[in-house]
Amino acid sequence: MSRVMVGVIGGTGLGEALGALGGGELREVDTPYGRPSGPITLAEVAGVPVALLARHGEGHLKNPSTVPYRANIWALKSLGVTHVLASGAVGSLREEVAPRHLVIPDQVIDKTHRRPGTFFDDLAVHVEFANPFCSTLRNVLVKAGTGFPTRIHQGGTYVCMEGPQFSTRAESELHRSWGASLIGMTVMPEAKLAREAELCYALVALPTDYDCWKPHPASLDQARLIEEILGNVKAATQNALELVRRAVPLVAALDKPCSCQSALALAIWSDRSRLAPDVKERLRPILGRYLG
Ligand SMILES: [Zn+2]
Repeated sequence: MSRVMVGVIGGTGLGEALGALGGGELREVDTPYGRPSGPITLAEVAGVPVALLARHGEGHLKNPSTVPYRANIWALKSLGVTHVLASGAVGSLREEVAPRHLVIPDQVIDKTHRRPGTFFDDLAVHVEFANPFCSTLRNVLVKAGTGFPTRIHQGGTYVCMEGPQFSTRAESELHRSWGASLIGMTVMPEAKLAREAELCYALVALPTDYDCWKPHPASLDQARLIEEILGNVKAATQNALELVRRAVPLVAALDKPCSCQSALALAIWSDRSRLAPDVKERLRPILGRYLG
């Protein structure tokens, strides 16, 4: 298999802690979709090249609706990233998914509605997306989690809402009735764009608290509640970092190419010879090998 480079997109908590994965060189990347959330750190973990990006940017100034998802994925792809391990804080919709556990979800319901969700505005490209996360990478994360001190849930449906407000109780109950396990705000369109860019992509979700379907204990006032959530974020972040650190060498050891990495092979419906030169240029890192 060609050279592996692992992109790590750190969400709330992990974004700030990514520095702990190793020093490295800061790279500012400009893309046709503007600047990524922040500079990308090029480093090595266990001898494997990694590209680290904090999804919410320095100072956590970007909210889930304003994260430049296309610029982030385009930038990682243009730097040579082949696999993306992402993290994100979520609320739990299930009693058994407790705060501080980790979850490797396998499905998504996308409720976002004001984010550019494709690289292909100027042509018709339809990628397969029945399995929104790369099963190869999910298996790597499960393997990396063997013997882990924290419970890691395998599978589960992540409902991605627009936010930035949290759910109403009726919405929370609705999401539970759909069989979903997690509510979050950032996995979409990130996972869709990763598939369009032929990157293997999997998520480590960090439940920080139960969503509002479950009443908080009466003993916790608002300030104590926030304190507890922040404590949960911190603990889950350390666990997620450790999981990513263990997963990176396993990604590098993968010996078969994954179907994500040829996601566009049968997906391009437009006549490529009719694409405008500026469109070809903009999409070169993503579509280049299909343009001849
Ligand atoms: Zn894959």
